[in-house]
Amino acid sequence: MLRTIHCGDLGRERDGQRVTLCGWVHSRRDHGGLIFIDLRDRRGLVQVVFNPELAPDAHAAAERFRSEWVIQVSGDVRVRPEGTLNPALDTGEIEVAAADVTVLNESKTPPFEIADEDLEVDELLRMKFRYLDLRRPKMQQTLTLRHKVVKYIRDFLDERGFLEIETPILIKSTPEGARDYLVPSRLYPGRFYALPQSPQQLKQLLMVAGMDKYFQIARCFRDEDPRADRQPEHTQLDLEMSFVEQDDVLELIEELYTSMIETLTPEKRLVKPFTRLTYREAMDRFATDKPDLRFDLEMADLTDIAAASQFRVFSSAASRGEIVKGFGVPGAGSYARRQLDELVELAKTRGAQGLVYIALDPSAPSLDDLTADHVRSPAARFLSLDEIRAIAARVDAGPGDLALIAAGPPKTANVVLSALRGEMGRRLKLADPDELRFAFVVDFPLFEWNEDEARWDAMHHAFSMPNDATIKYLESDPGKVIANLYDLVCNGEECASGSVRVRSRSLQERIFEVLGYSKEQVGQRFSQILDAFEYGAPPHGGIASGIDRLVMILTGADNIRDVIAFPKTQNAIDPLFEAPDHVEESQLKELRVSISE
Ligand code: ASP
Repeated sequence: MLRTIHCGDLGRERDGQRVTLCGWVHSRRDHGGLIFIDLRDRRGLVQVVFNPELAPDAHAAAERFRSEWVIQVSGDVRVRPEGTLNPALDTGEIEVAAADVTVLNESKTPPFEIADEDLEVDELLRMKFRYLDLRRPKMQQTLTLRHKVVKYIRDFLDERGFLEIETPILIKSTPEGARDYLVPSRLYPGRFYALPQSPQQLKQLLMVAGMDKYFQIARCFRDEDPRADRQPEHTQLDLEMSFVEQDDVLELIEELYTSMIETLTPEKRLVKPFTRLTYREAMDRFATDKPDLRFDLEMADLTDIAAASQFRVFSSAASRGEIVKGFGVPGAGSYARRQLDELVELAKTRGAQGLVYIALDPSAPSLDDLTADHVRSPAARFLSLDEIRAIAARVDAGPGDLALIAAGPPKTANVVLSALRGEMGRRLKLADPDELRFAFVVDFPLFEWNEDEARWDAMHHAFSMPNDATIKYLESDPGKVIANLYDLVCNGEECASGSVRVRSRSLQERIFEVLGYSKEQVGQRFSQILDAFEYGAPPHGGIASGIDRLVMILTGADNIRDVIAFPKTQNAIDPLFEAPDHVEESQLKELRVSISE
């Protein structure tokens, strides 16, 4: 090696030792006589001092140094003189007195400062020069943690008898509800491979193959419309086990997450044990299947009060079989009109026609003593004081509080209420950023009605096992079928998803039929797994958990691109390689692909 030790590993215990370091010039200060540089490598920074009296050649060389030059320097470690210790630096108790220095490479002036962590750099520029962006200590720490997460997972599962098995990237469509990325075949013109949306069928085939316990750090490709926190490719811990029930999978994942977080990020406040909620409970109480449980703000159903009211918005929603639902926000009853209007706007961006708020003035002695003067609400003229009291009591709002109410089709109303709940949680700073509140959401419906296309979609995917109590509704009332299907959520984000699987051909075919696949489509897309089910498929189940999301949660990154070494932009572009790109005409010809304008 060109070095004897890393910059960041030096400390007081090396006092007096001769070391050789290699790294980048992080910063340079010329104090007339002495030149100081902070030298940086992946492990950290150390101060190197060039003294013209002690090492005139090295000092002369250091006069030319600029930021990001790569140098090799030999010198003696020494404890810094009293009064010059730098507690902000891990190596701040010592410095290295340079004796010899070699320039290994020069650098142009970088397009942005690498040394200044607080500098806001345009993200496109960071991505264009990702190899410089990744030099920033914060990014190096994130990728180090990511490595540790994956290593922890591998070791943990290895100890429990799992095999890590790779599955192909060039495969056939493995639908998970997104569009496929396709790869044209040169050898078979007109035919295409699809990149896996997940290894779902492959891992099930591995269970049929008797592999018993499988996992993979798997790349999954989904050609979905761009969204802030979405990438065309993402990494999952994909896992499957034979001869298990739902609880076996959940217990394993809880143990993995708990021990991993306690080992790798002990500073986080992990709440144990993980909460368990049914999908129904989650929707009723929090209006979402991925609730942030760090704060309350629970929902109350107001449909019965609404049905009896003179207020048309409420009564007609109730009579259409829609829902009227809301929650109380402590202390927000004195919100200014502008703040209330902002909430109405937010509701509208989520698809609501409007939002009904009821702000209760703090001066009211109690709900019983409420007068019209204490109430600010667009519905105040249409609701009696008794109705307002009943609503307030239901959502647990008293004087000084605010009630937020949405009326409409359940899907829209829940989306709106969940967004408002999140917003109020943020505004009132109800969530502790260091707390990790995991919950398993279980008993998901197997199907979800697709309003636009008037058909049933799989809530997650087609391979989940209906539970015994509701399988009878499979054909008659698919919306009622509950599956052994679960998600793991944390602080309002989905972290993992999985299920116990169907393992019989006939049941799997019935599910495909509900999803509207024709016999030919099923044969063409799924014959491999249906055939396999006929050769002794064991009971099996599994889960896949997002690695990118997990690293985001553990590092507190608020942007998925910050936890991926070479991410794509929000618009699915790689600005560094400039991908996607045009290809040579000859390549297209070879593939017999032509581009139509
Ligand atoms: N294949 C599923 C997914 O990618 C996870 C699972 O059911 O195991 O979301």
